[in-house]
Amino acid sequence: MSQATATLPASAPERINLLDLDRAGLERFFADIGEKPFRAKQVMQWIHQRGVTDFAQMTDLSKTLRARLAECATVDLPEVSVDQRSKDGTRKWLLHMDGVENAVECVLIPEDKRMTLCISSQVGCSLNCSFCSTAKQGFNRNLSTAEIIGQLYLAHHALLADEREGGITNVVMMGMGEPLLNYDAVMRALNIMCDDFAYGLSKRRVTISTAGVVPAIRRLHEDTDVSLAVSLHAPDDELRSQLVPLNRKYPIAELLDACRQYVSEHNRRRITFEYVMLKGVNDSLDHARRLVKLLRGIPSKLNLIPFNPYPHALYECSDQATIDRFRDFVVGKGIVTVTRKTRGDDIDAACGQLVGKVKDRSRRSQKHQISIQKLTGQTPHATR
Ligand code: SAH
Repeated sequence: MSQATATLPASAPERINLLDLDRAGLERFFADIGEKPFRAKQVMQWIHQRGVTDFAQMTDLSKTLRARLAECATVDLPEVSVDQRSKDGTRKWLLHMDGVENAVECVLIPEDKRMTLCISSQVGCSLNCSFCSTAKQGFNRNLSTAEIIGQLYLAHHALLADEREGGITNVVMMGMGEPLLNYDAVMRALNIMCDDFAYGLSKRRVTISTAGVVPAIRRLHEDTDVSLAVSLHAPDDELRSQLVPLNRKYPIAELLDACRQYVSEHNRRRITFEYVMLKGVNDSLDHARRLVKLLRGIPSKLNLIPFNPYPHALYECSDQATIDRFRDFVVGKGIVTVTRKTRGDDIDAACGQLVGKVKDRSRRSQKHQISIQKLTGQTPHATR
C-alpha cells in the first residue's frame, strides 16, 4: 500500500467530490493535503477539459498523489437516465441526482454557431409562478455545485464524443429552479464554467435567469458580471404578482432599480427581460405600451417567449398575430426584441416544460393535485 494510506486517519472522513470545488476550493483542498496549489489547475484540466474522472489516468500527477486522491476524493457525476433527441436537434437529458428520488433536466439547444446548454439549479422550484409547470411539482432541494457543473460536464463531453469540436459555447441557467436562491453553489459553478482551466466560457456567454430576487441581484453585481436575464412577464405590480408571486416581496420598481445598478458600470451590457406571451393576460398593445415606458432608460433586450402549454395549464399561448403586433410595437419604440423560437417541443424540452422528478417536500403540489382532481374528477398520474 502507498504512503498515502498510512497517513489517513483510521476512520477516514467521507471522500470529497472534486466537482464541488472551483479553483480556489481545489487550491485549499490541495493545501490541506500538503500539495502545491498548481495541482488545482492540473486536476481541473483532467476533469473538465479532458473528461477524465479516474485519478489513475492523471499521468502528470505522481503515483503517490494519484493513490492519495483515490483514497480521499471522488469525481461523482449525476447519472444520465434518459437522453432524448428532438427532430430539430434539441437534446434533453434527464439526470438522476440521488438514486431515483430526484431528477432534473438539462437541454442542449444547437443554433448556427452556438451550442447553448440550459441547466437547472434546483430540484423543483419554490417560487410558484402561476404559468410554470416546474412550479406545480413543488420544491425539494438545492443542487450542489457538482450537480450543476455535472450537467455541463455531461453535455460538453457528449458533444466532444460526437466530434462536435467546440462543445458547449453558451450556458443559460433557465432550467428548473431559481438560481439566485441557491447562490453559493451557483457561484462556484459559474467560476468553474468561466475558468480557463475548465470550460473557459466568457461571462457574456453565461446567463443567469431570475424571477427577481433583488438582494441576490445586488450581491451578484458585487461578485461577477455574467449576463443577467430577468423574468418580467408583466408591466405592473398587480398583474406581475399574480404571475410571479415573488413580486409581492420585491415589486417591479425595486427590481428595475437593481437591474439598473447591475448594468451601470458595464456600458456595453444589457439586461435581457423575459416576457412570456399569455393569451388575453399580458399581451395587449396597452401592456406593450406600459412595458416600453417601464424599460425606458435601462439598457435592455426583450425576449418574448411564446407560452409553452402543458396539461392542466391555466393559460394559453397568445396568437401569432398578437405576438407579432406586440413585437412590432416594442421594436418601433427602439427596444431590441427577439421572439424566442419554441424548440424541442416533441420531447417536452421547451421553457417551463422541464419537469424532472421531484420528491416534493412542500404541500403545494398536494394542493395542486387535489385541485386537478376537483376539475377533472380524476386522479392525475402526473402534472403533465
Ligand atoms: N427561475 C428562473 C429560471 C427558470 S425559468 C426565472 O424565473 O427566470 C426560465 C424561463 O422560462 C423564465 O422566464 C420562466 O418564466 C419561463 N417559463 C416558465 N414556464 C414557462 C412556460 N410554460 N412557457 C414559456 N416560458 C415559461
